[in-house]
Amino acid sequence: NGGKAQREIPFAQPGSLTKVFAIASGKGGVGKSSVTVNLALAMAKEGFKVGVVDADIYGHSVPAMLGVADSRPTQVDDLIMPVPTPSGVSVISIGMLKPRRDQVVAWRGPMLDRALVQMLADVYWGDLDILLLDLPPGTGDVAISLGQHLPGAEVVVVTTPQEAAAEVAERAGTMASMMHQRVVGVIENMSFLPCPHCAEDGVEHRLEIFGSGGGARVAATLSGRFGYDVPVLGEIPLDVSLREGGDSGKPIVDSDPTAPAAQVLSSVATRL
Ligand code: ADP
Repeated sequence: NGGKAQREIPFAQPGSLTKVFAIASGKGGVGKSSVTVNLALAMAKEGFKVGVVDADIYGHSVPAMLGVADSRPTQVDDLIMPVPTPSGVSVISIGMLKPRRDQVVAWRGPMLDRALVQMLADVYWGDLDILLLDLPPGTGDVAISLGQHLPGAEVVVVTTPQEAAAEVAERAGTMASMMHQRVVGVIENMSFLPCPHCAEDGVEHRLEIFGSGGGARVAATLSGRFGYDVPVLGEIPLDVSLREGGDSGKPIVDSDPTAPAAQVLSSVATRL
């Protein structure tokens, strides 16, 4: 890098006042990015200054979910300015570091490591209260890099109730612990679908599309393995407006805050 000293990651400095949470999952499609953006918005609503790093090399869907799909960061001298969003949360995405949008991120470990450090150290985050990182699913290079650069980051594991999802989620949690990060809890997403027809008759009936028990299983396994309590922080129901909120760039905690799924997300945000 032309002899230029690499900038330090402010969140890794001893006096840093920013809480860092990495949102992890065992596999894709369980709602990790949806959880990340909604937690970010819920925390911002509580009055915190929140930044989001989208480090999901496979998905990088966070900017679209926050309503800034087409934005690119600006640069001031050699600092990158994070992209502001309508909700007041600022965001940087691994997708924004690619020269071309349609390019596939076919990077090996060292490149991914550089990209992660760049998003943490070369971005002007200002004084954040909270930084959320959307990790790629699984136990790959980005998770290892994050553990090396930010061992103080706390990890939240997202799973569905399904057995197969829970098993891989346990591995993602164990990986975080191997990197000396604390796993602060498990969020079960897509826990059930409130049956709309029963609701018309005033009856609450839950359709367990993906089975049940995955979140509790991950929490119990990780608690047993680590010797400290890893709680289930919340169980988020399936909700059409959660999906629509993601697709339209207006996350459900803002667009439909009284929806049960939004309320679970907001209550998880206050627990973190
Ligand atoms: P991941 O980041 O784990 O790959 P996403 O957050 O991208 O998952 O979610 C995958 C898809 O499922 C998205 O279209 C999202 O809107 C949808 N989705 C996630 N959680 C829910 C939910 N609780 N109810 C309805 N749709 C959901």
